[in-house]
Amino acid sequence: METILLFIAAAGAGMQAIIGLSFFISCVCEKEPRATVYSGIQFLLMLGLVMLLFYLNTIGFFETNSGLTFLIIGLALAGSLCFFLMRKTESNPRALDGTKGLILGEVPPTDERDTVFARNRTLRPGSEEYKTYYEMRPEFENSDAARREKGGPLGHPGAIDRPHDRPNVAATLASLSIPLHLSQPEKFNPPAHPAFKGQRVELNPGSASTRVKGYTLGIGANLVGICEINPLWVYSHRGEVFNENWDDWGRKLELTHKYAVVFATEMAFELVGTAPHTPTTIASMGNYAQGAFIATQLAAFISNLGYSATANHLRHYDTLLVPLAVDAGLGETGRLGYLMTKDYGPRVRLGAVTTDLPLVPDKPVDIGVVDFCRICKKCAHCCPSSSIPLGDQEEANGTFRWKLNAETCFDYWGKVGTDCNICMRVCPWSHASTLPHQLIRSLIARNRYSRQLFNLMDDIFYGTKPKPKPAPEWARYKNGD
Ligand code: SF4
Ligand code: SF4
Repeated sequence: METILLFIAAAGAGMQAIIGLSFFISCVCEKEPRATVYSGIQFLLMLGLVMLLFYLNTIGFFETNSGLTFLIIGLALAGSLCFFLMRKTESNPRALDGTKGLILGEVPPTDERDTVFARNRTLRPGSEEYKTYYEMRPEFENSDAARREKGGPLGHPGAIDRPHDRPNVAATLASLSIPLHLSQPEKFNPPAHPAFKGQRVELNPGSASTRVKGYTLGIGANLVGICEINPLWVYSHRGEVFNENWDDWGRKLELTHKYAVVFATEMAFELVGTAPHTPTTIASMGNYAQGAFIATQLAAFISNLGYSATANHLRHYDTLLVPLAVDAGLGETGRLGYLMTKDYGPRVRLGAVTTDLPLVPDKPVDIGVVDFCRICKKCAHCCPSSSIPLGDQEEANGTFRWKLNAETCFDYWGKVGTDCNICMRVCPWSHASTLPHQLIRSLIARNRYSRQLFNLMDDIFYGTKPKPKPAPEWARYKNGD
């Protein structure tokens, strides 16, 4: 009897020690000095426990009554703790309903002209569009003008990494050219290849979904899902104009496509780790370029099948992508306002293709984000512009959520000359996708007590206000760093 119990105890402690060792290795690879020290201590304690078990066995302790009682109590406690932290606890019904579960009242349509990007990137002082827009929205004119005076992201003379930022700005701008090139109408709405012109390849929705999703992953996406498009998330009017196509500005958008294929690409961990310094913007723009590339090819693939398809990427959006991604089952929206995915947290960029090709939609997911974010608040505490709310979710424009202040966030981008990304860097879900972190994310997705435990552990191992990590050598942003 005691031999079996001892074997179970040694196997459990050994397993713990292996997990502790893999966490230690993970922290070393992540270049996290504080977490490395703590995980090293954790591993030594686990190893010590294994050795203690062997020692007690060699001196015959477990053959005594008190030794057997000690073993039984220890195993019962460890088993109960595992059960308590691993069992599936109640789901969040709102999350399982996708964005429909978050709608509380009337949701006004989103006009792309009102986005902080369209106002500050597209409108040119003195132009007809500028006059028309600020007659329509006078409340934004003074603050937008003041922002333009200071210079936008990447152009600010006081940017955080000056005077050593030029190589990284050069790398960032190199990626931007791809989405710009792919924002020409024949690229985002590709015609069918001549070999397929006028033909339609008949596929049932299940088979079409398998092919389209497989293709998307095959050309570089890390996650993909399908949703029926809720018209609430389609922009009412075009607000961003590229390639001097000014006739498009203010055009009413009418999307006839029923489905969206939404995908995410993982951003480089070591670049995001430097946020808010310039390497993080290399990652953002690199992923936008990758997203434009994937969306354009996917749209061309669907067009060749004989259906209409439109690529949505950095330089051409018909819809808001985060709500579509939620409905397509890629994740949930977190406190920081971004999509939180199970495998990479918010450390992703999104792209999509809308289409009339009949597809099978995926189901929204509950991965425990709302519960976790309610306790965590790390992004809100670390945000230098206080743009992320510290309180609970509230109704904002008819939906129940945490509402990011996009105006103050964008102002901070202008101040540092990058797209900041501090909130993304400090988020506990953004850790590298190593085995221990995958295991922790799985537990968080299942169990509410794990959410509390791992919130606390993240603060202990990584700190409540983690500092940026050094950049890889090729992306250094100051002398010696
Ligand atoms: S990007 Fe920076 S400024 Fe914007 S919300 Fe995140 S931490 Fe705050
Ligand atoms: S940092 Fe914390 S509160 Fe913010 S999004 Fe990530 S998990 Fe949620």
